[in-house]
This record gives sequence, structure tokens and C-alpha cells, in this order.
Amino acid sequence: MDKYEVLKHCFGHSRFRQGQEELVDAVLSGRDALGIMPTGGGKSLCYQIPALLLGGITIVISPLISLMKDQVAALKNAGISAAYINSSLTAEQLRLVYRRAREGAYKLLYVAPERLETEGFAALMQAVTVSLVAVDEAHCISQWGQDFRPSYRSIPDFVASLPQRPPVTALTATATAEVQQDIVRLLELRDPVRCVTGFDRPNLFFDVQRPKNKMSALLDLLRTRRDKTGIVYCATRAAAERVCRTLCSRGVAAVCYHAGMEDGERRASQDDFQFDRKNVIVATNAFGMGIDKSNVNFVIHYNMPKSLEAYYQEAGRAGRDGEAADCILLYSAGDVETAKFLIQSGGEELGDAEREELRRRDYERLKIMTGYCKTTRCLRGYILDYFGQPHAEECGNCGNCRRTYRLEDITIPAQMILSCVVRVRETLGYYVGKTLIVQTLRGSRDRRLLQLGLDSLSTYGLMRKLSAEKVLAMLDRLEEAGYLRTNAQHFTLEPTAAANGVLFGGEKVTMPVHLEPAAQSGEKKRRRKGAAASAPTTGTEDLFAALKAERTRLAAAEGVPAYVVFSNATLADMAAKAPHTMEDFLEVSGVGEIKAARYGEAFLKAIAAYEEADET
Ligand code: ADP
Ligand code: ZN
Repeated sequence: MDKYEVLKHCFGHSRFRQGQEELVDAVLSGRDALGIMPTGGGKSLCYQIPALLLGGITIVISPLISLMKDQVAALKNAGISAAYINSSLTAEQLRLVYRRAREGAYKLLYVAPERLETEGFAALMQAVTVSLVAVDEAHCISQWGQDFRPSYRSIPDFVASLPQRPPVTALTATATAEVQQDIVRLLELRDPVRCVTGFDRPNLFFDVQRPKNKMSALLDLLRTRRDKTGIVYCATRAAAERVCRTLCSRGVAAVCYHAGMEDGERRASQDDFQFDRKNVIVATNAFGMGIDKSNVNFVIHYNMPKSLEAYYQEAGRAGRDGEAADCILLYSAGDVETAKFLIQSGGEELGDAEREELRRRDYERLKIMTGYCKTTRCLRGYILDYFGQPHAEECGNCGNCRRTYRLEDITIPAQMILSCVVRVRETLGYYVGKTLIVQTLRGSRDRRLLQLGLDSLSTYGLMRKLSAEKVLAMLDRLEEAGYLRTNAQHFTLEPTAAANGVLFGGEKVTMPVHLEPAAQSGEKKRRRKGAAASAPTTGTEDLFAALKAERTRLAAAEGVPAYVVFSNATLADMAAKAPHTMEDFLEVSGVGEIKAARYGEAFLKAIAAYEEADET
């Protein structure tokens, strides 16, 4: 078989997606490769196809146990022999896997990085021919990446210890240039073929909301998504528990997930979500990497994450099946404080200099993340800019592109704010933070303010009539427009040279204000440009539902998640084609030979039964 045949026969796809073929070719020609593809882009095929074409065994290094388990289940389901080695195996299971691997029973062997250094594994590696080493979630090797895993650093030694060096393929969805460089250097890739595919996920709708009350905003969002599946991310364990409790008390089928929970409990939550027994999982960032649930319809961030990388990765868990999905961030100024606290309390295991450097970068990343929450330009554009990807001016599928704005003239309040900043500095001899400026302008009786004597300034109380939020929004706008800047070290607010234009030069300042809230897909059902045809086409909804029911039945019988049987996209295509023969069944996108053999009959029967019922 050649690569196209493997793609069709084993995986049921008719053509490669962007980047896949290039990476497969790299391996087949014996070269190292670095592939950066968005979540759901199809990274696994880039090593699974070569694994089937090459003679020996492919070692896949992967950080998370749940991911391995699911991937191996999916491979076995497609008739491909694969196994995994990690701490969840009993001694006996482990021995069996070692023995079968020695006998050449597996094409793919998934292994946790911690295993590489163990004696048993090293001995096995001397006894088999390794044809490819694939490093999944390769960004874990970089200390500057999101999920640094020290055990990834042992990979180059492992590769060097192999009797013959196979090609090494590194894959990740995290793409900053810095992390890419780290991956190539630390993994010791040799002149790798680099392949960075489009980062854009057109089927994802992005929005940032600044609700007065997050909980009621969240409940509103969930109310319009009752039958949908989604993740609610919180910044801390305590918040996750609190939010989950409230949701449950309001009748939402939610479970909680964070690293502080007991193993069994956490696994139960994950399974409930994975197998569609609960619609919503409320989680900290501990829930994520390795979650291979394709039908996540929304990801709501109850708190702002620490970086845009983290945000895009977490939000990117929505819509992996290509269906329209929503990524909504509920922002409040308090999130910035929480994030600062988390940054300040991290990095204990590092030396002083390293920790300082890490924090400096963390603060930079936080600033970019905060910028996302405050920008009025296209949110997708903001993300793609950060990852150095080209994009259109407006995407038409984000909160900012959909919202209509009115430009409010804020020149006079801007002058008040800027002169307040200048006056405070004249009085105290130093600049202060946003809070004090807002308090001064609003005439607060705060003790610290009074102690500093700021109530005697001429700008004291000038904006008494405005809400603190509104004043803060204006400060943000002035910062965004370059009249103010936040001192990165002291978090004080300082005027820039440009401020003089507003104070003395008659320069006008405007601020966009929302006219209407953006609509989300949960409220209005509509197809978006770029969304794959994974929703049933009109007229086939009922058959689609029948096929889904059949899938649920099969998945339950086999104890696997539904998508392991077939994805929604496959069912939608099946509903559209309504095959009657095995031959037609093989034409359905996503149906390979093994799966056709395994499930064909059941689905053909379901289709026939549906049509019969339809006629009567
Ligand atoms: P990643 O690891 O990059 O997040 P996966 O490898 O899990 O993504 O693939 C995501 C989904 O895309 C899977 O459901 C897979 O079946 C599908 N997929 C991958 N390659 C193709 C292709 N060439 N054609 C159609 N679907 C594909
Ligand atoms: Zn947009």
C-alpha cells in the first residue's frame, strides 16, 4: 500500500489535510520534522501513516495517559495493532506488552516520557527496530512553553541510545517562534522539515464579555445551550468547585475536574463528560491536554487564563469535529490580579535568575492576554497576529466583528484623566496604579487616598457621576490608544509623550461603545463559513439522529466514546449518502475498511429500518 491507500483503507479519508502529506513524506524520506498544527488539525495521522508503511515499530511519546488510551482504542478499532506503556498498567499487563512488542506485534507503541529511562524499556528498544520516534505535544520540552515537562528532556538521550537513529517527528499546536526554536534545539532535530499550517479555526466563534455578574452571565449562556456539550474553565480549584456547585444547583448536568481531586473522582468526572453522561465539565487547566473529545460545542472561560497560548489551546478544544462552536471568555479586572498572583507563586523549583526570567516572560504574556480581552478589533485577527499568521482584516465570526460600535467622543474625560495622572505625580513625586487614579477621579473617601492627600487635587471628584467601570474602560482606551502606559515593573500608570496632544494640542479621543451584544451560535442556529459539513444537511436531520442513536448503542456496547466509532462529520455524510450496500458505505467520508467491516452492517440496517419506518 502507498500513503494514499493507507489514508483511505485504514482511516477512511480521501485526501490529506494541509500539512499532513508534507510531514508523512518527510518521515518516509528519512528526515526529521517539526509539525505545528492547530488542535484538531490531524496531527496523529502524520505519524500513524508512516508507522503503517515502515517496517519496524513507531514509538509515540505522549504526556498524558488518557490520550494514549483513547488513541490506542481508536487505532485498534480501525484494525491497527497498537499498545501503550504507562503507569496505569499492572506489572502483568506491562510484561505482556513488552513480550508482544518484542515479537513485533505492534506497529505503534505509545509511551510516557518517564518510561524512556527505565531499564525494561531500554532493553526492549535494543531488541526491536524503531522506524520512527514521534514526539507529541513537543512544546512540553520547552521551559517557555505552557506545560513544561522535565522528563521530555530525556528524549534526545533515548533517541541516541537506539541502535540506529530513526527519523524524529515533533508535533505540537503551540507555535510561538521561541518555543519552536526550543523544540528543534532541545530535541536535537537534524535539519528538520518544518511545517506550520494555518492556525485559524474558522468554525470557532470567539467572544469576550465583561458581565457585571459572571455567574448569571454563565447561567444565561448555558440556558441557550442546554443540549450542548462544553467546558467551563476556571482559574483556581476553589472557583471550579464553587461554579460547579452553583451550576448543579440550577439543574445543569455538570461535573468538576481539577488536580486537587482524588484520582478516582477525577477519572469519574472525565468519563462522565467523555461519554456524554454529563454535558458540562467545570475544570481548571489540569483538564485538557489529551482530551480527545471531538464534539465539544463550547468552551467558556470563567476567568481569563495567564496567556494567549493557554487560551487558544483551551478554547481550541471546542469544535474539533469541525462543527460551529463557541469560545467565550468572561473577563473581569479581578482576573488580572488572580493571574498575577498565580505567576508570582509559580516557579519555586527554579533558580533565582531563571525564576526572574520566567516571571518576566509570564508578565509579558499576561499583557498580551489582557490586550485580547480589551481590544475592539477582530479577535481572531488578534490571535493570529500573535502566532505570526496572516489573516483578513475582519473575520466576521467573532464578537468584535459582529458587534456594531458607536464611537463616543471622550476627549474631555480623557483630559481629566490625563491631567489627574500628571497631578498625582506632581503631588506625590511618583506615579500610582489605576485603582488610585479611578478613586481620585470619582472622589472616593478611601483611607489610603485621604492619607496621601489626593482629595486636595483639582481633579478630585471630577468624574463622580461615572461608574468605576466606565472610568476604568476609559483608562484602558487611553492605554490602548497610546496616551498612557502601564509600567511593567511597578504596575503604575504613566502618561506617554502623546498625552500632550490631548492635554494641550486639541487632539480628539474616541472610544467604541457596543450598541448591541453579539449573537452566539447557541442562540441562533446558522452555518458559518469554513465550518465543515458535520451538521446534517437539510432534510437528513432525522436519519442523522437515527444514526447517532445507533452510534450511541455501539459505543456503549464496546465501552468506547462515541467518536471512536464514527465522528459527527462521518454520520452527517452517511445521512446525506444513505448507503444501501457495503460498497456505498465505503464511500462515506471517514469510513475505512476495518470500520466498514465492523460497523457497516449495523449502520446499513439502521438506514434500512429508518427508510422503512419513513415509508409507512
Ligand atoms: P490533533 O491531534 O491535531 O488535535 P487529530 O489527529 O486528533 O488532531 O485529528 C482530529 C480529527 O480530524 C479526527 O477526528 C480525525 O479523524 C480527523 N482527520 C484527520 N485527518 C483527516 C483527513 N485527512 N481528512 C478528514 N479528517 C481527518
Ligand atoms: Zn473577527
